[in-house]
Amino acid sequence: MTETDSFWLKDLVVLGQGAPNQISKIGGQQSRCLCLWSDKTGFVRVYPVPHGYVHDWEIINAEVRKPTNDGRENSYVVLNYEQEWKNLSKRIYAQKEINRKGNKVNKKLKRPEQIALLESLAKSTFSQIRDNGKSFGLIKPKSMKFMLKQNKETSEAQTTLIDLDYDIMNQNDFAFLPSLHYECDGPCSSKAPHEQKIVEWGAYQWMRQNPNSEEHCMQLKDNYHIEEENYLHYVLIGNIRKYTTTYVVVKLIRFKIEEEENVSE
Ligand SMILES: [Zn+2]
Repeated sequence: MTETDSFWLKDLVVLGQGAPNQISKIGGQQSRCLCLWSDKTGFVRVYPVPHGYVHDWEIINAEVRKPTNDGRENSYVVLNYEQEWKNLSKRIYAQKEINRKGNKVNKKLKRPEQIALLESLAKSTFSQIRDNGKSFGLIKPKSMKFMLKQNKETSEAQTTLIDLDYDIMNQNDFAFLPSLHYECDGPCSSKAPHEQKIVEWGAYQWMRQNPNSEEHCMQLKDNYHIEEENYLHYVLIGNIRKYTTTYVVVKLIRFKIEEEENVSE
C-alpha cells in the first residue's frame, strides 16, 4: 500500500455507528463501522474506527483507502489503522467550530438540520434500496413493530449470518435478539412487513444490564418509542458483506415531535 492509494473524504455527517466487532489484525481489539453521508459522496461506510473518536451528527474528515475484500459500494478503510490504532486522530476527526461562548467545539448538525437532512434522504422504499444495490438506505416507515426473538442460533450459524462489520460481541450471551418489522410508505415490491435485525450498539448495551430477562429486553420498544404517535422515526438500514441483499437496521433514529414544530413530508 502506498500513500497515493489513500485519499480524504471530507464534510461527512455521522449518521450511525454499528455494533463493535473484533479485528484480528489489531490483536482482537474492538472497532466499529460508521455510516456517513455527504452531498458529494452520498452514503459511505468507513471502518474500522475505535470507540469515542466521533459521535452522531458530527461533521468529520477521514483519510481512507479502498478495502481489498469488500464489494459493497462506497466502503472505505481508515488508512494505516493497523499501525496507528492507538492514535488515529490524524486520520479521522471531527471538524471544529467556535460556539456562542467562544469555545472551540466539535462541529455538529443541530436538531432542525438533522431532521431536514433525514427528510431529504428518506425518499426510498426497501425494494428500491435493495434492487439498486445500495449499501445503505434511509426509510421513513408507514408503520412498524418491535419484536424480540429468542436467540436459538448456534455460534457457527451466527458467524455466517452476521457480517463482520456488524458482528456483535458475545452474541451468544444474549438470550434475545431485537428486530424491527416495518412497512414502507410508497411503492415497494418486497413482501411486507420487512423483518430486519437491529444491530445498533445501544440496544445491546441496554440488554447487557439484564440479558436473560425478557421483560427488561422488551423495554427496548419503549426506549425506541415505537408505536408512539408523538415520535418521528427513520430506519437506517445497511447491507451485509457476505449477502449484499440482506439488510440490518444500523440505527433507528427518532425524534420527539415538539408542539411548535411542523414536520411535513
Ligand atoms: Zn417496503
